[in-house]
Amino acid sequence: MKNDTILVLCAHNDDQIIGVGGTLAKYAKQGKPIIIIIFSYGESSHPHYQKEVIIKTRVKESIRADKILCGDKAKTYYLGLTEGKFQKEIKNKKISQKIEKIIRQSKPSKIFTHSIDDPHPDHKAVNKFVMNLTEKIGFKGDVYSFNVWNLFINLRKRNLPKLVVDISDTFKKKIEALEKHKSQAIQARLPLTWSIYFKAIIHGFLNKMKYAEVFYKIK
Ligand SMILES: [Zn+2]
Repeated sequence: MKNDTILVLCAHNDDQIIGVGGTLAKYAKQGKPIIIIIFSYGESSHPHYQKEVIIKTRVKESIRADKILCGDKAKTYYLGLTEGKFQKEIKNKKISQKIEKIIRQSKPSKIFTHSIDDPHPDHKAVNKFVMNLTEKIGFKGDVYSFNVWNLFINLRKRNLPKLVVDISDTFKKKIEALEKHKSQAIQARLPLTWSIYFKAIIHGFLNKMKYAEVFYKIK
């Protein structure tokens, strides 16, 4: 039987929920193993707290959120890179070798990661890293991109194949999971919440579903 592990590579520990949460919940329901690799602890979102406190809080929230989303199907790993310094630390901490090992062992059928059009520099850095690594190791599966900070249409990619996932059954879980990220609530999430609904509804409407997530196949 074909291995159907799903691998997600993202910068912060709510990116996977915002970008691909409904889809992950759906795949978990279907029994697919899910591996989530988060590049940072997202510590700079709270400059006035002690770093350790934030890391603990965010990891706790994230574990709870991924549990809501995927039950016990998901394994979440943190690389602990410093936000804003991904490129340098990817090199220094031998991240390529680590991720390559995970890919070789788990043989994912699909990788989900950030879009190159996402304006957030950490998101862009992860996209570049994934594109380079999958190229280098000759990854045979599909690589899909999701958007976090930008809205849904982008001109550069309109000719790329799309993956449309009906998340009508799991959209509620996505919102619930997001709500577990309490420490993120004020700074980061308020401007995002409406866009999460907006995107799910528009994508759903365009594809004759209630709610949908759409991904571009970038490799
Ligand atoms: Zn992020």
